[in-house]
Amino acid sequence: MLTSIAGRSVIVTGASKGIGKGIAKVFARSGGKVLVVSRHLNEAEACAEELRRAGGTAKGHAADVTKIGDMQVMADAAVTAHGGIDILCANAGIFPQAKIEDLSSEDWDHVMATNLRGTFLPIKACLPHLKKSDQGRVVITSSITGPVTGFPGWAHYGATKAGQLGFMRTVAIELAKYAITVNAVLPGNILTEGLIALGPEYERSMAASIPLKKLGTVEDIGFAALFLASKEAAYITGQTIIIDGGQILPESLDALAQA
Ligand code: NAP
Repeated sequence: MLTSIAGRSVIVTGASKGIGKGIAKVFARSGGKVLVVSRHLNEAEACAEELRRAGGTAKGHAADVTKIGDMQVMADAAVTAHGGIDILCANAGIFPQAKIEDLSSEDWDHVMATNLRGTFLPIKACLPHLKKSDQGRVVITSSITGPVTGFPGWAHYGATKAGQLGFMRTVAIELAKYAITVNAVLPGNILTEGLIALGPEYERSMAASIPLKKLGTVEDIGFAALFLASKEAAYITGQTIIIDGGQILPESLDALAQA
């Protein structure tokens, strides 16, 4: 059994729904004190309330990951509420679809700002507090899209998700002297509210292309993040874990059909 993270102060950005909410739930159930962050206080607080009702310690906080001022206030809020910062899950991200012929430079900048600047700024703002922790951890939510695979309409998104990993590898070296580890989770197709809204046919066709024949849950990503944040993962830094039910493994559709 992994050493408990009970009592650790955890920030999860983009935690009002989707994967971030799954990560927040897993950490709260494990005894972490979670700051649930999204741009809308009512939604962040609704998630925090759900975690508290389930017996966890959580607080909602409104902040935009693209703004350094917001990130500094967020870091201060975690310190005030939970006594410091041990674990930062830089998860907030957006994935508007546009094929290259329709992609504007504004679309490009918007996705870069949220997904890449929005990974850098929370780390920068939390760093003075992570340095004081004896178990400083950063877990970045990347994706298989970009680092490993491509999908029409997501060239700009894929660039940010691959970019997060380039950023992570150097930051992991820079922060190693403080014993802070920096790793990434790479989800495949995960059953979030947004994906469920696409309907059961989309879900069925995606599941058919996955060796484990089902989509992942948001908690599946939370469990991987929890491991990377654990004491036992102290010697792992600058690494990635793919959580995709084997989606990237088949060489071709035939490889799946013959299994
Ligand atoms: P989601 O359900 O759309 O949730 C996104 C979360 O991020 C919300 O809480 C949203 O709340 C918040 N957010 C968006 N922009 C923000 C900003 N500028 N500042 C602060 N919070 C912001 O998304 P998801 O599917 O869970 O995706 C979460 C992460 O997982 C992303 O990094 C995505 O790239 C990655 N991912 C997802 C999948 C998948 O299958 N869903 C697969 C691979 C990777 P507000 O709108 O209130 O701010």
